Amino acid sequence: MTLLKIISYPASVLATTGQPVENFDASLSELAANMFETMYAARGVGLAAQQVGLSLRFFVMDCEDTRLVAANPEIISMDGEQEDDEACLSLASIGSPLKRAEHVVLRAQDLNGKVFETEGRGLTARCLQHETDHCNGTLFIDRLSPLKRDIVKRKFRKLVKRGEA
Ligand code: ZN
Repeated sequence: MTLLKIISYPASVLATTGQPVENFDASLSELAANMFETMYAARGVGLAAQQVGLSLRFFVMDCEDTRLVAANPEIISMDGEQEDDEACLSLASIGSPLKRAEHVVLRAQDLNGKVFETEGRGLTARCLQHETDHCNGTLFIDRLSPLKRDIVKRKFRKLVKRGEA
């Protein structure tokens, strides 16, 4: 397995909607394995293809009891509300409080192209929303108020300047 380079904000690939996954072949399985490896090494709970420089609607996740690979993910229902800290490996894991749906249902395809649905609450629901957003070119800071977004950006720029991000 290979550790991949995690792309940081403000790379344009992070702001671009991914291409649909069409080939469910060995190279997709290899990508998933490498993305899991990269995510664990970075102590993340989710990683989208955009974050390793690929414009593809694809992510891996291992959060609480949910470990999955999702190709062409779609949130098909959401309800409730939660507010908690959220962070992103592409923004040096700097956290900021963000409101999200408390419960979501995700529809996606697995590595064989088989369609599946899964649901999550709390942190798992937050992660499903965060990673699906990545596939659509949306970062969690895009969902923050301008004030909170500036705080995260400022902290991030400081780390970049110090060579820590
Ligand atoms: Zn992220």
